[in-house]
Order: sequence, then structure tokens, then C-alpha cells
Amino acid sequence: MEQARHQGFRVPPPTKVAIPLIDVHTHAFPDRPTHELVEAAELYQVERLVALASLEQSVEVQSQFPHMVLPGPMLDFTHWQDPDRFAATNIAVVREAARAGAPLIKLWFAPRFQDRVPMKLDDARLDPIFEEIGRQKLAVLVHVADPDIWFAKYYTDTARYGTKADQYPPLEYRLERHPEIVFISAHMGGDPEHLDHLAELMDRYPNYHVDTSATKWIVRELGRKPAEARDFFQAYADRILFGSDQVVFRAEDAEPHRYRMRYWIHRAFWETDIRAPSPLPDGDAEGEPQLNGLDLPVPVLEKVYRENALRLLRLPAGPKKEATDP
Ligand SMILES: [Zn+2]
Repeated sequence: MEQARHQGFRVPPPTKVAIPLIDVHTHAFPDRPTHELVEAAELYQVERLVALASLEQSVEVQSQFPHMVLPGPMLDFTHWQDPDRFAATNIAVVREAARAGAPLIKLWFAPRFQDRVPMKLDDARLDPIFEEIGRQKLAVLVHVADPDIWFAKYYTDTARYGTKADQYPPLEYRLERHPEIVFISAHMGGDPEHLDHLAELMDRYPNYHVDTSATKWIVRELGRKPAEARDFFQAYADRILFGSDQVVFRAEDAEPHRYRMRYWIHRAFWETDIRAPSPLPDGDAEGEPQLNGLDLPVPVLEKVYRENALRLLRLPAGPKKEATDP
């Protein structure tokens, strides 16, 4: 760990798998230094990034890095108070996303979303948009809930935000109503604290999947119970996709090593039995944040890192770089 830090995380930890990774959850933008993320991805054998942003931004960043970036457009909530205009705007977003080769649409229904738009995932205004997503055969990447500790610290106004348990019925409504749509629930479904709850959702809804994104939260919670987490990954190996939640900041806020460090942590956490202090500060950790690796078996890593994304997002498996090489 000290050596890795000393090297600026320029040397990936020893890996068990030789396959390229697909990162289904990043936030990259055309007017920010996305090349720094792309360079870190290449160093860590990440072959493709899904960039979550507005339709225009995600398509533009794809055009800047066509060998690497897939667009992951978010819906446009500008006209949420006008159901017809809201539907028409977003049906157009979904169609344009499909034309641009986007594998998924991103929806952000964190409790804080209520501060911006008083709409839940089961709102009827979303019905025609979900129908179009189904017609276009796109997946949905959806953020629901937040860490348990945030409900204790920040979401104390339950009349406004609901409890953590209240975040799930609207998601279940969509899972039930759209069995043909692949749902990927971000950040271990927003409930890495309770893998038994995720197992219930997995068992009840065949179209339910999760991604591994949010480095601090996931490493903190799964690292508390590595044996249980490892069992969960083995039981649901076909339903978990690798995502990092790397966010490209504006140039003036750029942190050196930011992207390399996070990929280093992910690879060490999933692939090794490392027991060390985490190099990533975590205000939600009790005491010094720890890295307790899960040491996942190779077949599980291959599915999570790559095979599930290829299958569920209908991505071509061939080499991606040939077209851009001279
Ligand atoms: Zn995210």
C-alpha cells in the first residue's frame, strides 16, 4: 500500500484476471479533463466507460473518446410540471440515446432529488418514458437510497425524504411493471449494509441487477463483512456489474492520482485479501478507513468485470481500438 501510494498508483496491484474491464458507472464531461480518467482507465485495463451526463454531454464526450466512452444519458426534468412536454422531451432523449449507441439511461432518485423535483420513481409521468426505454431495448441505471448513516445524519426530515425502507417500493413497482427492462441499481442497490435485502430483491425480480460503484461506501460496508460479501457475489455473480462512480471534476478542482487511486482500490478490494488502511479518506468511517479485500474467485471476477456488461448491455465483445489505430 505504502509503495502503491509512493508510486502515485501508477502500478496496478497484481491481478488474477487478464481480461479488460467495463466500467458501467462514471461521470465524465466534454468540458472537463476527462482524458485524465481515460488514461487511468487504460492503465487499469478498463476498456470501456459509460459516461453518465446529459444526452448532449454524454454524446459529445463519446465523440472525444470513441474507443473508450459509451454515452449514458440522464433524463431531462426541466418540464416536470407539464406531463405532456416532459414525456415528449424524454421520449426524444431515449430515442436519440439509442441512435447514439447508448446502452442505458441513468435515473437519479436519491432522497435529495425531492429537493429539486417532487417526483418518485413510480410517478405516472414516467410511464411513457419507461415504455420507450423498453421499446428501444435500453437498460436503466438507477440510484435509489443512500448510506444508512446518511439517513441518520442528513435525511432526518422523514416527512420530506422518507425512511430508507421507503425508497424501495417505487423501485419494486418499476421492476414488476417492466420485466423486459434490465434494471441496474447503483451502489450495490443502495443497500450494501443489508445484503439479505438485496438477496430478496434478486430472488423476487429476475430483471434486478446491481453495480459496485461508490468506492468509499462499498469498500466500507462490504469490507466490514468480507466473508458474507464474498458469498453474496458468488450467489449472484450473474447479476452484479463493475462500476466505479469516478467523477471528473473541473480542471481547477482536479486531485492528483484521483482516478488511479480509485481504480487501484477497486482492483485490490475485489481481487485480493488485502488488510490495510485505505488511502481514501472517508468521513463516514468509524476511525481510520480500512481496506478488507474480498478476494473474489476468478470466474466471479470475469462476470462482474466484463461478461455481465457485455450480455446485459448488448455490447460487442470484439477489440475496440482497431478502428482508431492508424
Ligand atoms: Zn454516480
